[in-house]
Amino acid sequence: MVTLYGKSIFKDVCIGRIYYYSPKATKAAPYRIDDPEREIQLYRAANEKAKTQLNELYDKTLKDMGAQNAAIFDAHRILLEDEEYRQAIEKTIEEKMVNAAYAIQLAGTRFAGIFRDMDSEYMKERAADVMDVTERLIKILLGGMDEKERFNEPVILAANDLTPSDMMLFPKDKLLGFILEQGSENSHTAILAKSMGVPALISVKADSLVSCDNKYAILDGVNGVVYIEPDEKTISGFNIKLNEIKNKKKELLALKGQESITLDGKKICLYANAGSMDDIKNAVENDAEGIGLFRSEFLYMEKDDFPTEQELFEAYKQVLTTMGGKRVIIRTLDIGADKKAPYFRLKDEENPVLGYRALRICLDRPEIFKTQLRALYRAGYYGNLSILIPMVISLEEIRKVKEIIKIVKNELKQENKPINDSIELGIMIETPAAALISDRLAKEVDFFSIGTNDLSQYTLAIDRQNHELLPFFDPRHEAIFKLIKMSVDAIHKEGKWAGICGELGADTEVTSRLLELGIDEFSVSPGVLLEVRKKIRESYAGSLNGADITI
Ligand code: PEP
Ligand code: MG
Repeated sequence: MVTLYGKSIFKDVCIGRIYYYSPKATKAAPYRIDDPEREIQLYRAANEKAKTQLNELYDKTLKDMGAQNAAIFDAHRILLEDEEYRQAIEKTIEEKMVNAAYAIQLAGTRFAGIFRDMDSEYMKERAADVMDVTERLIKILLGGMDEKERFNEPVILAANDLTPSDMMLFPKDKLLGFILEQGSENSHTAILAKSMGVPALISVKADSLVSCDNKYAILDGVNGVVYIEPDEKTISGFNIKLNEIKNKKKELLALKGQESITLDGKKICLYANAGSMDDIKNAVENDAEGIGLFRSEFLYMEKDDFPTEQELFEAYKQVLTTMGGKRVIIRTLDIGADKKAPYFRLKDEENPVLGYRALRICLDRPEIFKTQLRALYRAGYYGNLSILIPMVISLEEIRKVKEIIKIVKNELKQENKPINDSIELGIMIETPAAALISDRLAKEVDFFSIGTNDLSQYTLAIDRQNHELLPFFDPRHEAIFKLIKMSVDAIHKEGKWAGICGELGADTEVTSRLLELGIDEFSVSPGVLLEVRKKIRESYAGSLNGADITI
């Protein structure tokens, strides 16, 4: 038996087979072939398939976002038809007797290099297009990229690290738990794992986790331990712990249907964080009183191309109707940094977390923002919707958002589309700048939702993705509480409410403190809702800061 230690991010236990996942590279390994004609046919078929994909992307983008945005797919299609590119690939297959995917990789790298060496900035940028087309072809050829087909029994997923997009490849009903060698508490990967409500460990110290592939293991998320090939004694200890956890869960179930009310009578709204319909179902099962944060970017990340207004509308409507009249706060696109979708074509940045992301993208590319807002205002007609804007740092930004909303609403009215005209608008307080000018921002919006994940990252200057900084990271740092207090006081002064949707809101060690600071709404992962309700019911709101606030 081998014992490994890590940091737990969800306290539960499981037993099962380990599945070690290495993210798929779009790189092809070379191997010798003996039928070059067959490889050439494979390449040509992949080329045709890529062209079909690009034609579809072109049509869809043209319809949704205009000719300028669609042009890129046309350029890619032209590259696929380039005679020199084609000849280079076919010649490599014939002369080197290598597989088509590898020949494509060689040609792509060489052509991209030629562009990169050119003087003009414009031509240099074409290198990325060549690599994009090349990777598209390789992906088609490697086929079977779908992890979903790789395992049919539930497994403990182990990996060095996973991006949020990697996470979305896995069917949630096949996951017993997670073990990551890297990872950090507030990373979106950890948040996604938490929202699935399965035991998960990050920063697991192991000489070679890959060698644990296919072995049976016990994952103890309560104590932060993994036992690989556990002995009899460990297995019986596990069974005892499993029973304890079952009993604790049973106790918590008794809180379903109960109010989230403090001992001194302040009624708190206890909502759930979600990013998918699975999370919404999980939230309903755990008696969420609403959805406090719907991370809308995950819908975008599941797609190969921009979702249409209709697709977004239907997805939001489904969330709203499933919640049956309870409040649903949908956050507008928070794409960028670690949350990527290739079709956004975001450039690599030195400091992506401080870079082109979230509201900045929406204001810079208003056609994307308007499509989302149109879908939101239309869906709002079918439920109790509020809209939340991420990454705000200034009054100007929120005023621009309101102008765009006005335009969108007018357009929809002119088109006679049924809309909800009075959707509440809130902002995330997740930058120190927003907290520091919260008195002014409070006059512009209907509510605040405090995002402590980013607020801690920016206040403490600690990259939330960097697991090596874990020893320095203190999510309960006094500076965070000061900024929370400042923001809550500012919004209360305007007679409006404040929620918390960052992970600190799920830390039951600080529930009482957050209540004393006046937090009116907690939004947490579905799996911890009842635990937080229990804590709220055992706490005082103290001075009843915000007692006159109605949500
Ligand atoms: C936050 O920053 O606290 C937050 C809730 O948003 P996200 O984790 O999606 O960045
Ligand atoms: Mg955030």
